[in-house]
Amino acid sequence: MSRLRRWFAKHGRDLPWRRTRDPYHVLVSELMLQQTQVSRVIDYYDRWLTRFPTLHHVAKARPSQVREAWEGLGYYARARNLHKLAKEVSPNGEPNHSLPADPAALRALPGIGAYTAGAVASFAYEKRAPLVDTNVARVLLRLYAPAHSPKSGVGQRVAWALAEAVLPRTGKASWTHNQAIMEIGALICTARVARCGECPLAKGCASGAVPVEPSHPRNRGKH
Ligand code: SF4
Repeated sequence: MSRLRRWFAKHGRDLPWRRTRDPYHVLVSELMLQQTQVSRVIDYYDRWLTRFPTLHHVAKARPSQVREAWEGLGYYARARNLHKLAKEVSPNGEPNHSLPADPAALRALPGIGAYTAGAVASFAYEKRAPLVDTNVARVLLRLYAPAHSPKSGVGQRVAWALAEAVLPRTGKASWTHNQAIMEIGALICTARVARCGECPLAKGCASGAVPVEPSHPRNRGKH
């Protein structure tokens, strides 16, 4: 897996939320990215943080202001939950309140599921925390357990167990590792195509051992 981290250092995209360790900024990016493409999120992310630089600015805002700032991104429930979360973390809009670092404590907050909790713990606090979204589940299952579908409950459980099992030893290395797996899922091992020839994980990928089928990622992705 150190090959994966080296690959990321060379090929990973320079995205604004990868330059910060501010938990609120990481959370905003993760919520926006849940249903929206990276290219669109970049604009909204900068604009949002200019308008609401900290969590307590969100806590103090009126619902109409939050709604207006989110307009155009869709799935407004994400903004409503962020507003609720901000009020919970910073009840009177006081500064100096931050998000917890522990994934279990993060999960107790409005709108934060298992993936987002892992993402904030890993990407903001550099905790050794696993995270699984659609891309990560697909990559890990193709790599280690191609018989499972990421869409099944069993597949999800297997993917989470794998995500935990393959984490590097330190939180800092886990930051790069988690970003790298997500990047592989976004750029190399996508839902539509698997570019195995460009993949740093090709050596030892279990998908290579699966009998030849036209729909198999290895075959779809050959070029
Ligand atoms: S080798 Fe191919 S199938 Fe395996 S993880 Fe890489 S791109 Fe995906």
